[in-house]
Amino acid sequence: MSKILVTGGCGYIGSHTLVDLIDNGFDVISIDNLINSSADILEGVKAITGKTVQNYPVDLCDKAATQAVFRAHPDIAGVIHFAALKYVGESVEKPLLYFRNNLDSLLNVLECMVEFGVKNIIFSSSCSVYGNATELPVTESTPFQTAESPYARTKQMGEQILEDVCFQEKGLNAVILRYFNPGGAHESTLIGEAATAATNLVPVITETAAGKRASMTVFGADYPTRDGSCVRDYIHVMDLANAHTKAVQYLLADHQEKNCEVYNLGIGEGVTVLEAIYAFEAVSGVKLNYEIGPRRAGDVVAIYANNNLATSRLGWHAKRGITDIMRTAWAWQQKRK
Ligand code: UDP
Repeated sequence: MSKILVTGGCGYIGSHTLVDLIDNGFDVISIDNLINSSADILEGVKAITGKTVQNYPVDLCDKAATQAVFRAHPDIAGVIHFAALKYVGESVEKPLLYFRNNLDSLLNVLECMVEFGVKNIIFSSSCSVYGNATELPVTESTPFQTAESPYARTKQMGEQILEDVCFQEKGLNAVILRYFNPGGAHESTLIGEAATAATNLVPVITETAAGKRASMTVFGADYPTRDGSCVRDYIHVMDLANAHTKAVQYLLADHQEKNCEVYNLGIGEGVTVLEAIYAFEAVSGVKLNYEIGPRRAGDVVAIYANNNLATSRLGWHAKRGITDIMRTAWAWQQKRK
């Protein structure tokens, strides 16, 4: 049973990935400093899988404390590095915090991997690295445009760091996963997105429907799209989680030739904001109180993925669509009332 170190294991995508890894026979440990998450979610992971996951509440910017975890687990076969600050708006206000945190933590993880001989890393990147893409759907070789935020720049830089380190450190393998727009929750509703003051579309919709917000705003309906609202590629969090398991299996299969590879993780379908709202209303039976408002600064008009590489090389297939995302996100929201 291979042991995987998951950084950010108490976060939204991290916790769902713990479940998928355990379901697929992996042994897991987590490092999460709990500044934007709670270890309570591991109770949900335990209720689903029957397994207790050990979390080290360590700040990855603390090199000595990070080394101590690697030292205590000489059998780590790979690292999935989720842990990072992720709020676009906050990153504009506090760029130094974002660069210091997201880059220092990555450098410490990589230095520990080199020091302790861990060969495989999966890195959480984002479709925000493409900026306002020059072509749609975007493929992994669509060139980066100017990133819209310091957050997105930390992901661009993180990718470049991995590329350079993998080039130099022969035997170190990286898979970089560019997430599109994750949403939804585990079918059990024992875990889900524990966001407070959410700004992402799916939790904003479910919180509005639950009455936690009086109304919500569609940020712009005058874009050059089929109904005027922005287009995104929404991916169910359990499909996203499973892509990490597939990537781990890919990296651990010793017949593969790899070094530093990049994969888009979207389902390949563009959905407008209004279509997402209609999908929610259809699956929940709740009429949503929304208004059309001005555009939000920093939003790209449209982005969705070409995911051929992830399906052909990793053998990954998204099984769920926007309806499943809304259904499970709504079930999770109702449970949290
Ligand atoms: N959006 C919206 N109202 C909201 C939140 C989001 O209209 O209250 C739109 C946003 O402008 C974007 C899409 O929903 O077009 C997805 O936004 P989100 O913040 O979820 O993810 P992003 O694509 O910005 O990473």
